Amino acid sequence: MNLKTSVQQLKGVGEKTVQKFASLGIGTIEDLLGYYPRDYICYEPPVSIGMIGEEEGFVTVAGYIRSRPAVRQGGRMKITSVTVSDETGSLQLIWFNMPFLANTLRTGSRYLFHGRIQVQGSRKSLVQPEIYTPAAYEEKMQALQPMYALTKGVTNHLIAKTIKQAFVSLESLPESLPPSITGRYGLMPAPEALYIIHFPRNREELRQARKRLVFEEFFFFLLAMEAHKRELDHVENVFPMEPDEKVMKFIESLPYELTEDQKKAWQDIRNDLKGSRCMHRMLQGDVGSGKTVLALLGCFTAASSGYQSVIMAPTEVLAKQHYDTVQSMIAACGLPYRAGLLTGSLPAANKRRMQESIALGLVDIVIGTHAVIQEAVEFKNLAFAVTDEQHRFGVKQREALSQKGVRPHVLVMSATPIPRTLALLIYGDLDISMIRQMPKNRIPIKNCVIGQDKRDTAYQFLQKEIRAGRQAYIICPMVEESELLEGENVTDYTKRLCEIFPKDVRIGMLHGRMKPALKNQVMEEFSAGRLDILVSTTVIEVGIDVPNATVMMIENADRFGLSQLHQLRGRVGRGKNASYCIFVSGSKKQETRERLEILNHSNDGFEIAEKDLQLRGPGDLFGIRQSGVLEFRLGDIVADSKVLYEAKEAVDGLLSEDPDLKKRENRIFANFFKNADGNWNL
Ligand code: ADP
Ligand code: MG
Repeated sequence: MNLKTSVQQLKGVGEKTVQKFASLGIGTIEDLLGYYPRDYICYEPPVSIGMIGEEEGFVTVAGYIRSRPAVRQGGRMKITSVTVSDETGSLQLIWFNMPFLANTLRTGSRYLFHGRIQVQGSRKSLVQPEIYTPAAYEEKMQALQPMYALTKGVTNHLIAKTIKQAFVSLESLPESLPPSITGRYGLMPAPEALYIIHFPRNREELRQARKRLVFEEFFFFLLAMEAHKRELDHVENVFPMEPDEKVMKFIESLPYELTEDQKKAWQDIRNDLKGSRCMHRMLQGDVGSGKTVLALLGCFTAASSGYQSVIMAPTEVLAKQHYDTVQSMIAACGLPYRAGLLTGSLPAANKRRMQESIALGLVDIVIGTHAVIQEAVEFKNLAFAVTDEQHRFGVKQREALSQKGVRPHVLVMSATPIPRTLALLIYGDLDISMIRQMPKNRIPIKNCVIGQDKRDTAYQFLQKEIRAGRQAYIICPMVEESELLEGENVTDYTKRLCEIFPKDVRIGMLHGRMKPALKNQVMEEFSAGRLDILVSTTVIEVGIDVPNATVMMIENADRFGLSQLHQLRGRVGRGKNASYCIFVSGSKKQETRERLEILNHSNDGFEIAEKDLQLRGPGDLFGIRQSGVLEFRLGDIVADSKVLYEAKEAVDGLLSEDPDLKKRENRIFANFFKNADGNWNL
């Protein structure tokens, strides 16, 4: 058996299991071994009872049982309770329907209890705890149990068992890095790492295994990037073009002057468009720095030269907004260009008609969501392709777009929520233009972090802004009430708000589960100023531009990642009026407070990303994937940035010693290079 063998060949894996595994994307043994645990259960050392705070959550306590457990009838359940004490205090333990415990737990004996703390008023109790002898718990603390992402009919046990079986059946596992690299960076051998990531005996071992696998992931990604870059260096410019006077006039007619950085970026784009090589550029700039207009200048340049262009946006709402912007600019300046909108919500017949028009070249500038662009859209002569909010797309999607035409110029735009130095690594195959300064007329956003008890004051403030003719967003983390998660939801919140606010305040709501047409309608109402407050989920996180909105209020702010909060805040402060961002947080945790304070004191996306990195520390074992920037399987470019830099150094070292990868030990990489045809088979 080898990695490519189907899991069906494994002992104990029947047809049914094969099907279930398939729904998890597991077909071969390689898929199976690459199905890493998403977490590990580990048992922490016990805490003193007196130290338990007001937060609910899982803990272990150690102590003596002072009296025989009491059993009483509570509704249809038998409730067993007993008090456990240590030197610092005592705590009530509760079990449901386990009356036999009354006879098992011995008075005067010492046990460890692991369970959930429940707080009711001033009373704390440990609910349904597991019971251990000191020796048994000692053993538990050592081991880490893998926890896999599951689906119906697939248990954690089944996955773990099948993976164990695979390790037994495999003759050998290949090593993918040469000794020069594993030695230099102190990496454990690949086969060992792969086993340990599933079945670690302790944390240190897990840390080492994870580091090895993360390094490998980054290494091959960066190598592919390098291969891609070399390839791009040879792609000639099939669509050389320059802006004509219509485009230059358009720039003059803008209601503002481009900032210095915008001008520089525009110069970069112009040089690329007329240069000898095809453009492959990233335009980076914080939220609200004015990237859209530069994309449009490129599109207009293409249209003037008789070519087509496309802008791909991550959401329908944003695509529609871009489309409206383009249409109004075309109309205002009397430009002879034809724009078309192509999104999933178009009725099938309209979609087909639009696709035909695009194929015939009747549309110059196409704006759409990526799903639609990827579907069978044929262009007549696509010369300029833009991806907006690139960090919302994977690398693969970016490639899909650039392969649409013969070889269109590619511009990707992003307010990359990662530190600049990391961005340079991750987008190593692209040339980069940065917009660091905000348009001149901007007034910095005022921030505040408040507890839920201050909500009424916030509402009064909102009302004052609305009376002054401004608009406000309120963000809730959820669409509807949920049994699993606590937090505000858009549906109930909107209802409540309608009761609290005077009747003449117009309140609308928006969330991802609404029909696309309705979403567009609500967004249009808000854009046009016919709604005063928009209660929304994070669907409005990216790109939305309504300069008259001046208040962003975020409920359960502690639930969101810092970069996401920064993106949300970027929806205000886009016009000439002072803007405000209110973070509402119920959490009293020190860490949460500190995180929100970062936002409170900075409006600079890059700085926020750096601070976030410092606060979390690069060694974070189970790095929270809050950045959502690139979907690595294990690695987190922010939390694992140190490993990323090492991998980069290794790739550079390899290529400087052996540029064409001719050496024997580098042969595996040479093949990899050859296959790197723009498909990122990582
Ligand atoms: P982002 O970079 O986040 O995509 P947008 O392109 O949406 O930002 O621009 C934000 C707002 O700033 C828009 O309303 C746009 O019209 C305006 N804007 C862009 N450039 C300038 C400028 N140089 N001066 C003033 N306002 C500008
Ligand atoms: Mg934008």
